[in-house]
Amino acid sequence: MIQTDILIIGAGPCGLFTVFEAGLLKLRCHLIDALPQPGGQCAEIYPKKPIYDIPAYPSILAGELVDRLMEQAEPFKPGFTLGERAEQIEKDDEDQFIVTTNRGTQHRAPIIAIAGGLGCFEPRKPPVPQLADFEDKGVEYIIKDPEFYRDKKVVISGGGDSALDWTIFLAEGVASEVTLVHRRKEFRGHLDSVQKVMDLAAAGRVRLMTDAEVIGVEGDGQLSSVEIKTKADGNHTIETDHWVPLFGLSPKLGPIADWNLNITKNAVEVDTFDYSTNVPGVYAIGDINTYPGKLKLILCGFHEATLMVQSAFKRIYPDKNLVLKYTTVNGVNGFEG
Ligand SMILES: Cc1cc2nc3c(=O)[nH]c(=O)nc-3n(C[C@H](O)[C@H](O)[C@H](O)COP(=O)(O)OP(=O)(O)OC[C@H]3O[C@@H](n4cnc5c(N)ncnc54)[C@H](O)[C@@H]3O)c2cc1C
Repeated sequence: MIQTDILIIGAGPCGLFTVFEAGLLKLRCHLIDALPQPGGQCAEIYPKKPIYDIPAYPSILAGELVDRLMEQAEPFKPGFTLGERAEQIEKDDEDQFIVTTNRGTQHRAPIIAIAGGLGCFEPRKPPVPQLADFEDKGVEYIIKDPEFYRDKKVVISGGGDSALDWTIFLAEGVASEVTLVHRRKEFRGHLDSVQKVMDLAAAGRVRLMTDAEVIGVEGDGQLSSVEIKTKADGNHTIETDHWVPLFGLSPKLGPIADWNLNITKNAVEVDTFDYSTNVPGVYAIGDINTYPGKLKLILCGFHEATLMVQSAFKRIYPDKNLVLKYTTVNGVNGFEG
C-alpha cells in the first residue's frame, strides 16, 4: 500500500505542478498515470510543438515544459505509479481514500487530486479477429519498457512518430528482429526519423513493409505469428514474439465517471473557491474540471493547483495556521530521501 498526503490522478502538467505547490506546504504527493511516462497531453500528443502562453517562456516545446516541471517537482520526491489506470476509489474507516489501479496497486491518502485531463488515453485498436485473445500475450498497444523486447522478434504497425521512434530504438541493439508495417508508402512522422528507418531497412536491420497491414494473429495461447496482407505480393506469415500496433490513443473519461462525482459534459464540476468536488477530500484541477468561465489551458490548471493545495492542507491539518510566504523568503526546501 502506497501512503501519501495528496494522491494525484494524472501526471500531466497540472498534476506535476501540484507536487511543487504541495511540497512548499510540506505535503507529499504520489501520482498515478495510465501512460508510461509523465507529461499528459504535452508528452503524448505534442512534445515537439512550441507553447507560447507559459508565463516567462516566450516559447517552450511541450516536451521541454514537462522536463522543467519534473525538475521543479524533484526536490519534493514525488512517487509515481505509471502505466496503470486508477480504477476504484473507496474510503477506509480512518477517513482515508484507497485508490486501486487496473493492475491492483493500492494507494492510500486523505486527499485525492484528480488531474486526469481529457481522461485515459485508450489505444486505437485495429479490427483484427481474435485480437483481444492475445492482448498482453504478445500484443501490446504501448511500449512501457523497451527492455521487455530484448532479443525478441517484434512487429510494429503504424506510420506516425511513435511507430518510427520505437522501430529505430528497438532495431538499435534491443530486439533480435524488427518489422515495421504501414498501410501507406508515406509516413506521417518527422523526416529525420523516416530517413533513419529507411537507412536501417537498407542496412537489413529493419524489415520494412509498406502498403501492407496486419490482418491476422496466431498462436497457442501466446502470439507466435501475424499475417500481413501486402498490395504488391499477397499475404505473408511472419513469425514474431510481439505485435505492437501504434495507431494512436484517444482520450476517454474512463473510471472517474463512476466515482460518484458531479459530472457535466465529461468534466468534473468544482467549486472555484478551492477546486473541490461534491465529494469532500476529492479535488479536480486542469482540463478535467468544469466551472463557469473554465479555460482548458495549462496556465489556468497551475492556478487551480495552487489554490487547491491550500485547501487540502487545511483539511489535513485543521488546527494549523497557514500563512502564505513567498518562495524567495522561505526558499524551496525539498524533502530528504
Ligand atoms: C495539440 C494541442 C496543443 C495545445 N496547445 C496548448 C498551448 O499552447 N497552451 C496551453 O496552455 N494548452 C495547450 N493545450 C492544452 C493543454 O495540453 C492542456 O490544457 C493540458 O495538457 C492539461 O493538463 P492536465 O494536467 O489537466 O491534463 P493532461 O495533460 O490531459 O494529463 C492528464 C493525465 O491523466 C491521465 N489519466 C486520466 N485518467 C486517469 C486514470 N483514471 N488513471 C490514471 N491516469 C489517468 C492521462 O493518462 C493523462 O496523462 C494543447 C492541447 C493540444 C491537444
